[in-house]
Parts: sequence; C-alpha cells; structure tokens
Amino acid sequence: MATRALLKVHMEGQGKKGRKKPVLFPKIVFLYDEKLHGEGGELEDIFELAVRCSSKTMYPDYLSLTGEGYVPSIYKKYGKIISPMGCRAFLSPWFERGGIEPADENDTPVYVGRFNIGVVSLHLPMILARSRKENRDFYVILDYYLELIRNLHLRTYSYLGEMKASTNPLAYCMGGFRGGNLQLSDKIKPLLDSATSSFGITALNELQRLYNGKSLTEDAEFSLEVMGHINEKIAQFKKEDHRLYAIYGTPAENLCGLQVKQFRKKFGIIEGVSDREYVSNSFHCHVTENITPIEKQDYEKRFWDLFNGGKIQYVKYPVDYNLDAIKTLVRRAMKMGFYEGVNLSLSYCDDCGHEELSMDVCPVCGSRNLTKIDRMNGYLSYSRTHGDTRLNDAKMIEIAERRSM
Ligand SMILES: [Zn+2]
Repeated sequence: MATRALLKVHMEGQGKKGRKKPVLFPKIVFLYDEKLHGEGGELEDIFELAVRCSSKTMYPDYLSLTGEGYVPSIYKKYGKIISPMGCRAFLSPWFERGGIEPADENDTPVYVGRFNIGVVSLHLPMILARSRKENRDFYVILDYYLELIRNLHLRTYSYLGEMKASTNPLAYCMGGFRGGNLQLSDKIKPLLDSATSSFGITALNELQRLYNGKSLTEDAEFSLEVMGHINEKIAQFKKEDHRLYAIYGTPAENLCGLQVKQFRKKFGIIEGVSDREYVSNSFHCHVTENITPIEKQDYEKRFWDLFNGGKIQYVKYPVDYNLDAIKTLVRRAMKMGFYEGVNLSLSYCDDCGHEELSMDVCPVCGSRNLTKIDRMNGYLSYSRTHGDTRLNDAKMIEIAERRSM
C-alpha cells in the first residue's frame, strides 16, 4: 500500500492543476526481485505501476537483486541490499567481524550507515596520447596515475581521520554512521575503515577512438583490456593498503567538458576524441550512436562487472509512452543484473500546460516558454526552465546530440 501510494503521488507530479510536473527529488529506486515482481509474481502489479510511473517521470530506476553480478550476488547470498547512493555509487563489502574479508563463513557484510569518501577520475585519452608522444608504454604511464590517485586517497583517509567527532555529532557521536558512538573529542579515524574511496573512469569511448579510430560499438577490445588491468591493480592496492578502493564509472557532469579542454590544450583536436565539447560518460556508448536499446544494453553489459563501485545503464525510449516496450526492456535489464534507468526527454509548456516528449516550440500555443527535464546520469535535472538552462554548456550540447543515450 505504501509503495502504491508513493508511486501514485510521484506520477501525478506537483504544481497547479493542469500544470503539474514531476519532482526531481527524492530519487526513487525500485528493488527488483524476479520472484516477487516477475511475470506471475505476487507483486507483479507493483512493478507494472512502477513502469507506468517511469514512463511519465523517468523514476523509479530499477535495481536488479536477482540477475547476475555483484549487487544480486550479495542479495542472493546474504539477503542484503546494496542501495546505490542516489546517482550510481555502490559500496564495497565490509564484513561485520572480519572487515575487508569475512572472518569465517558465518560473517555477513554490512551496508547500512557507511559512506564513500570520494572519487578521483583518470583521464584515459590523455594518458594514451602522452604515451604515444613520449614513446613510452601506455601501462607504465597508466600505473603512474593509478599510484597518484592511490596516494591522494591515502592522504584523504589520514586527513579525515584527524577530524574530531564534534565536527558532526549526529553522525559520529549519536550513531548516525556505523560505529558513530564516539566522544566529542575523539578522532573519527576508526569510522573510516569501512569507507569506500573510488578510482573514477570516464571517456572509455574516446579512449577506444584514439586507440584505433573505432567506437565502443565497433570494437571494445582495448578498453576492456585496460579495465581488466585497472581492476587487477586496484585489487592489489586494496590488499596492500587495507583500504576499500572501488572502481567507479564517473558520471562527469562537468568533467565531460573540462577533460576536452585539457586534452585540446596539449594534443589539439582529434576526430572522435576531442572534436566535440564533451567526452562520453563512463563506459557508455557515445550518445550519438544509432543503436537500439537492446544493442545498447548488450554493449554496456561487457563492462558491467568491471565497475562495481559505481554504474548505471539506461536507454532512451524512441517510442512515446509505449508501456510494453519499456516493461520488456526493464525486465531484460533485470535479468542482466543492471541498475536500469528509463530515459525520456520530458518537455512542458509553461503557458498552456501542454506536455510532450520532445519539443522546442509548443505545438498547441506556439510558446517557447518551456520546462525540460533530462536525465543527467543517475539523477534527473532541469535542462531548461522558463527558457533558461542550469547546466554547463558541454552537457547541454551532449543532451542536444543524444540519440540512444
Ligand atoms: Zn503551449
């Protein structure tokens, strides 16, 4: 009943009658268990209601608990859910008694009351361009930057560890965070053991383009090899430092434009790499790719298990409110173990209230006074309100060029 009420309220949106719009916060995540929400399941009607809600407001996003991969594996083994932190970050396992590794076979991981202390992202196309220019091995330079990030994280842990619990009594003294029952003058160091820190990866498509001129839909071999290397390296760091390092597909809301500027300064404009104002988000296919939602899911699945610290998959729906199509694709994503978003380009006329998926001029009253809501990544954002935009230029250009995002 609570879920139904929540979905119904969310679906209606807020505002004056006839002018209602979806709210962007809070984000809603649907925890999908095939047994409960699959075909013939006891709660199948809730899933159907959720899909109807997504078809109007993009939310909820769907988290597979029973498909393949990291998040479902924890649910199946321990009955525990790793909730994404809104956008896309997922915590690494931390065991009740053993810490990074389980103490014994009865030890269970805990995901509540924990947190992430931040991410530092690699600039992979720049690393490849530099290795070519200096005629050095790509992996030697990549390792240098991985070490650099590792040391930044270690410094962050030790810097934060010196903070006093009094800096946030609710979190550190009154049990807000796990183990947060310290005295006001205590240092918060012990609480950081279960905190994840992330190595961010973005612009994989541009890395592949620079490597051999192909996009991720044409050839992903090199990108997959690089990700395999990064995963091995981080596993080694984790062991040596006893820190919960994770690999995170950087959403790059602003970094998507900054990385291009940085690249151009050193290496100029290269077709497919730095000729647009933005780079691709994490391991996603380029937004301009003319591919079907099924192809996009399949292409992105190849990288799924290499980004356990943060990831999301979404497809843009070319069909207007085709509920069956959305349902089929979300179910497919749930089988594949995805954290899946429904992506529509929502537009509302602020003058007459007309609502349509994509419009620049209201077909009913001719007004350009529109509100548009687009998916930023895991979050939704107003890309336009009353004719103005709140996003950076690079992201706005990316949104305008989206075809299969
Ligand atoms: Zn209008």
